[in-house]
Amino acid sequence: MYSRIQAGNHSSVRMEGVRVGMDEEKKDLHRNRFPAGTLKRFAVKTRDDEFSNEIRERIIRYLSDFQLSHDEKKPDIVISVGGDGTLLQAFHQYIYRLKDTSFVGIHTGHLGFYADWTAEEVEKLVISIARNDFNVVEYPLLQTTVHFTDHTDPVSYLALNECTVRSAKGLLVADILINDEQFESFRGDGLCFSTPTGSTAYNKGLSGAIIHPSLPSIQLSEMASINNRVFRTIGSPLILPKHHHCQVKPVGDSDGFNVTIDHLSMIHDHVKMIEFSVAREKIRFARFRPLPFWQRVREAFIG
Ligand code: NAP
Ligand code: MN
Repeated sequence: MYSRIQAGNHSSVRMEGVRVGMDEEKKDLHRNRFPAGTLKRFAVKTRDDEFSNEIRERIIRYLSDFQLSHDEKKPDIVISVGGDGTLLQAFHQYIYRLKDTSFVGIHTGHLGFYADWTAEEVEKLVISIARNDFNVVEYPLLQTTVHFTDHTDPVSYLALNECTVRSAKGLLVADILINDEQFESFRGDGLCFSTPTGSTAYNKGLSGAIIHPSLPSIQLSEMASINNRVFRTIGSPLILPKHHHCQVKPVGDSDGFNVTIDHLSMIHDHVKMIEFSVAREKIRFARFRPLPFWQRVREAFIG
């Protein structure tokens, strides 16, 4: 649907360092500019509380007045009203058309990482959607593929925040391989593989690093690993670049693997191996004004 606007000429790469840095950042974020009128169909996803639903009704009324069509099946833009959790739900609802959909989030609670417009700014946002040029930024996602010991086909999931692996029976005992080479034997509560934009969520609670979303990478952080003379893990969070992959292989029991993908949770039996990598797919956010990532981090956590 979108025509891609080519990132300008890169002759400046040969010029002074500062310019190189700027060009690199633009390229890494795959920032594309689109003209007003590109967004024709919209959908609204809410947390389903009274206040968020009231905002949804206003958005539908205003955008319809601007001749945009309310289309819950094939939206060009999905407006999430609630919190980061609401945007996670919207992402999974529209996962089948990530290439053709941009997301934008309004928070009706505290400032969110994905929801960065306030309820008071609804009119401003609606006018921007209908009448203004805008940028689309693409952020990396995590791909998780579960392989089975019986002859069931592997299943793959995309996560916007993270995937966690635990054992429903208690201690998780698994080998961790990086690029098919044994790295360590893990014993502990579980493992968390997060995206850059998910690095401020569960990963942060596990003392993982906060990663700028212009770095296509996945971060592995441990949950309470057992470390003594017999069992040893690296202990530090690991950050893997794209084209690297990490595998978790059960040792012993291959049943009762609790795998979470963002807010979703499931149990897998007969697990042979779970593989993690930076996904080929990305999520697109419509940006109508700049809100630098580090500013968002400061406002959310420092105040
Ligand atoms: P939830 O229990 O409401 O989420 C927990 C909190 O995480 C909420 O305050 C949520 O913000 C916030 N959050 C979600 N994504 C974030 C992000 N990328 N950066 C910073 N904060 C973020 O459940 P939920 O809203 O469905 O969210 C699911 C997420 O909760 C999971 O993906 C996981 O990251 C996180 N989680 C964290 C822990 C932990 O830290 N120990 C444990 C379980 C799950 P809103 O209030 O705006 O929704
Ligand atoms: Mn939530």
